[in-house]
Amino acid sequence: MTNPDQRAWTLRLHSRLVLPRVIPMWMRQLSWRMCGWVLAGSLLVGIVSYALRPQPPFSFLRGHQPVRTDEHFNNYDLFGESAALSRTIESELTGLRFKRIIEKPWSKGRKVEYRSADESTQVFLVSEMDQARPLSIWIRSSRERSSLSRMTRDFLSVFTFTSRHGCCSSLNACIANMKQIEGAQATWAIENRRRTNEVPNDADLFGPQAYIRVKPQCPEGGSYTCGNQGEHPHCSVPWHELE
Ligand SMILES: [Zn+2]
Repeated sequence: MTNPDQRAWTLRLHSRLVLPRVIPMWMRQLSWRMCGWVLAGSLLVGIVSYALRPQPPFSFLRGHQPVRTDEHFNNYDLFGESAALSRTIESELTGLRFKRIIEKPWSKGRKVEYRSADESTQVFLVSEMDQARPLSIWIRSSRERSSLSRMTRDFLSVFTFTSRHGCCSSLNACIANMKQIEGAQATWAIENRRRTNEVPNDADLFGPQAYIRVKPQCPEGGSYTCGNQGEHPHCSVPWHELE
């Protein structure tokens, strides 16, 4: 009878002395060579996929990563002097035959919309008067990224009873939120005899003791800013507008 320690020791010895003789030398060399090829291949695939990674479509966005991305839009934040940045962007967009559709001031800055000649791409520049804030660029495409993603969404919408047109339902939900906030702000101003240029804080409008119990959330992740009295609330998603 051998004890377990002895048996384990015998097995180890066996594997060291006998197995290398069982596996022929050429097979061992081949396996090392194969490992080398697999490693070199993976490295090459990594380098090629890094070089071919999708680049933003505009040169002013090269080297920037989107802060938010969705099936239909990408949002980038660019820091710097927003007027100079806007000029650079405008000249590139004009060169690409984009049309300037509208320029609108909002309570804390301005918003400009450009549209491609085939109307499939919108570019929004949202700047703020506060120069410490970034110039927010939103690229919105009406094209489906892939037919597979469209098919997946259509398939899921059948089972989840949701709309296949996510853009419109989220826009309507956001508009309903902004109307609710606008109503609360108007009531706050009357009840507290506020002047037209006074803007309420979140604590004035939202909370168990305030006008709206819980602050509404934009379905596309935008954030709300209240304007002066008589101005509509602002959603940071530029195509969510109460007009
Ligand atoms: Zn919104």
